[in-house]
Amino acid sequence: MKQQKYYTFFQQQILIMIALSLIPGLVYVFAGWVFGMMIPALIWYCFMIIISLYGWKLYKEFQFHKMDEEALVSWYDRLKVFMYIIFTLWTVIFLLYVGKSEDNLHYIAIFTQIGASVVASTLLVSDKKIFVPILLTMMLPLAGYFFLIGTWYGYILSVFSLIFLIVLLYAAYNTYTLLQRNYFQANQDALTGLFNRRYFLEYIDALLERVHMTEEIVYIFLIDLDYFKTINDSLGHDIGDELLISVSKRIELFSQNTHVLARLGGDEFILISKDMKEQNRNKELAYNFALRLLDTIREPYMVGQHQLYISASIGVHKINPKAKDSTSLLKNVDIAMYEAKTKGRDTVIMFDESLSVEINEHLIIEQKLYKAIKENKLDVYYQPQFYGNKEIRGCEALARWNDTEFGSIAPDVFIPIAEKTGLIIELGSYIMNETFKTFYEWKLKGISSGHLSINISIKQLLHHSFVEDVNALLQTYPVHDISQNIIFEITESIFARDMHKVIEIMNRLKNSGISFSIDDFGTGYSSLSYLKELPVSELKVDKSFIEHLGKNENDENMIKTIISIAKNFGLSIVAEGVETQEQFDFLVDHECDLYQGYYFEKAITKSEFEDKYLLH
Ligand code: C2E
Ligand code: CA
Ligand code: CA
Repeated sequence: MKQQKYYTFFQQQILIMIALSLIPGLVYVFAGWVFGMMIPALIWYCFMIIISLYGWKLYKEFQFHKMDEEALVSWYDRLKVFMYIIFTLWTVIFLLYVGKSEDNLHYIAIFTQIGASVVASTLLVSDKKIFVPILLTMMLPLAGYFFLIGTWYGYILSVFSLIFLIVLLYAAYNTYTLLQRNYFQANQDALTGLFNRRYFLEYIDALLERVHMTEEIVYIFLIDLDYFKTINDSLGHDIGDELLISVSKRIELFSQNTHVLARLGGDEFILISKDMKEQNRNKELAYNFALRLLDTIREPYMVGQHQLYISASIGVHKINPKAKDSTSLLKNVDIAMYEAKTKGRDTVIMFDESLSVEINEHLIIEQKLYKAIKENKLDVYYQPQFYGNKEIRGCEALARWNDTEFGSIAPDVFIPIAEKTGLIIELGSYIMNETFKTFYEWKLKGISSGHLSINISIKQLLHHSFVEDVNALLQTYPVHDISQNIIFEITESIFARDMHKVIEIMNRLKNSGISFSIDDFGTGYSSLSYLKELPVSELKVDKSFIEHLGKNENDENMIKTIISIAKNFGLSIVAEGVETQEQFDFLVDHECDLYQGYYFEKAITKSEFEDKYLLH
């Protein structure tokens, strides 16, 4: 689709053509009056006025922002007709006057014809469908005229006219291809040949202006391929590029004629519906369109000898007349796309305000959390763990955050945000530091606190200085058995990571005396073969299984299985979220080793924990 500048340029050419026709045209009328050609000259001039009026109407009619693509194409077609007719009229007057050599009118006719050709080959050079036929209709009659003179100089002039025509066509065509190339370089993506981000941003700005005036409703679709980086990293950039080309061709084919497609960069594409017909305004149709698009993208690709599969996360957003600017629009469709990623990818999410509110809340929490960590506003609470005989075994350190404005914010809310933003590194090291310090203080007071479990996020574990940080803490709090009593709880998400690296880090920490526990066991994707290789000593059955005890037979079986896996691997087993006597009894019957939950105690402050469990 052509840009606004292109059309406005042609719109201005209408006025120039009208001026260049009506003013010199008067000279022809005058010459006609002097040399007895009044009637034909007047008739010709009347036609000129009529076509000029038509041109004027076209000029006024053009309003880029109010016209959809169909209207633009139709307007441009009519503009071409206007150009053809106005130049044909010049050929008509040429044919009328060129025969009047006795009055020397043929000089004027010949000059005007050449002049008009030059005008066509310079001003109208941006469309070859306009300048080529016009040049032919101008110059061929001239060459014919010279030929028909039948004298030697007539033949020479005829040949010269043809050469001149070829030169004009050649020059115009060269300029035309240069313009085309510049246009494509500026607006196209080199790899896929689709429109690029720059074009897209201009397009969307123009579209927004139009939508403001026409109140049309347009949908935009942001498509981000899932795990494309993995393909790039594992198979190389050439294969990655080929795949991108194939995907872009497929989207193009799927959305042809009804949408504008651009590649925003990397593996991100954007589609905008250009057909604003009533039936396309429907939200459900837009959603189904996106689902079908996703199906199309999911079909296998043959790249070289590789059969590749890829899915996409698609965000959909309705541009309504109230949309402010392209930035907020892109932000919204981005939010929807990210939500699709968060929901596990390979899906379509429609933007709505509640999503935006949620994101804003996250942003606020993120900023507050950043401050809270900086100002040491987070607390560590301790939840005791017990043996089957209800003797205390130790505790789990749990982060708590009490915000002055929002009150207490649950870890289930702020931990995922910290994970997403990377704040988990600082948060985790703060909690770890506090917990080590507490343990040290208890030791100094001569209290034996038993084991201390600390939740460690996978990001934290993989952080380059994690092992050094832990060792530094062990030096800062030099109690001989501190490391023997520290347990790091990690979740099954480690199985999605580079296991060699994870195992290496865990072994280095194990050498410092730290033990490991797998938290929320049974909810993720543990691989039993890796379980053997990991230096873990404990499994924690996720509390969701305990919760369903007595209600769901599958969950009971799951617990039995986990307990027997733990026994086979020689690991101790902790049941967390134990809330009732029945749950406790069931677990004792099945020889679970350790217990944690509201049945005994919730997470409490350091001093409460001391008073209740340590100082007696
Ligand atoms: P988690 O590691 O599975 O922690 C156990 C959660 O279960 C805690 O929630 C605890 O308060 C709760 N809980 C304990 N007993 C019961 C019970 O009988 N019934 C029920 N319904 N819940 C019980 P909390 O403290 O809200 O923590 C939620 C999650 O946040 C934790 O789950 C952990 O994944 C994460 N988290 C908390 N503190 C930290 C931390 O310092 N670092 C990291 N990385 N994550 C943390
Ligand atoms: Ca835990
Ligand atoms: Ca857990």
